[in-house]
Amino acid sequence: MSYCRFGGGSDVYMYPTGSFLGKPTIVCCMCRLLGGDSDTECLGPAEALFHLHQHLAVGDRVPQHAIDRLDREAAADGGREKKR
Ligand SMILES: [Zn+2]
Repeated sequence: MSYCRFGGGSDVYMYPTGSFLGKPTIVCCMCRLLGGDSDTECLGPAEALFHLHQHLAVGDRVPQHAIDRLDREAAADGGREKKR
């Protein structure tokens, strides 16, 4: 399920693509930060969250629910790492 998609107050389309080295990979499809014709691949929710903040910094619209979801996933990810 995508984190957010174009339209409805969103300038970003971000969705999970799988995993790499045990971390989920999340892609920002047709990323506006790259001019809108390339994808940005993020490794792990914390990196994806940072990427969304980069969009916010340039004035792109990012739905709050996408930020909240990545925030939760990043917190859960960090929690797991601390227990190891
Ligand atoms: Zn992007």
